[in-house]
Amino acid sequence: MAAHAWHYLAVFDTHTEQPLYLGRSKRLASPDQRIVATARYGGCSFPACARPALDCEYHHTTAWAEGGATDVTNLAPVCGHHHTLADHGWAVRHDEYGRIEWLPPAWLDPHRTPRTNTYHRPADWYRHPRRTHQRQGWPPSQWAAG
Ligand SMILES: [Zn+2]
Repeated sequence: MAAHAWHYLAVFDTHTEQPLYLGRSKRLASPDQRIVATARYGGCSFPACARPALDCEYHHTTAWAEGGATDVTNLAPVCGHHHTLADHGWAVRHDEYGRIEWLPPAWLDPHRTPRTNTYHRPADWYRHPRRTHQRQGWPPSQWAAG
């Protein structure tokens, strides 16, 4: 009896011919995907975290357990400390610009306002200043001294 096979489409970068879209064939990010994510995000995607990408793990923004693919567009660099938050009420997703957003749990922010990390990508402040400012939102306003 034949073993179960995963069928997937591998898309290769046109310059290096390295696979960046692995689908469900592999769970862990490949070295080539890590290089691309490092170039794109620079470091941990959690708001205000300064850990560099070389110290990061790679989180599936659509969870592997929910059918998420190991595609470069579904991976977010996250340091080990912040990666544990994804299992404790925080949600991670890509916004319409491809940036990674973290949504806090409702007990921390009832509006679950998305937050991005501009520490490694300061140009985002100039590209989308109002939106970035609104989404940076850290610390939450309810924490401010009043
Ligand atoms: Zn971090």
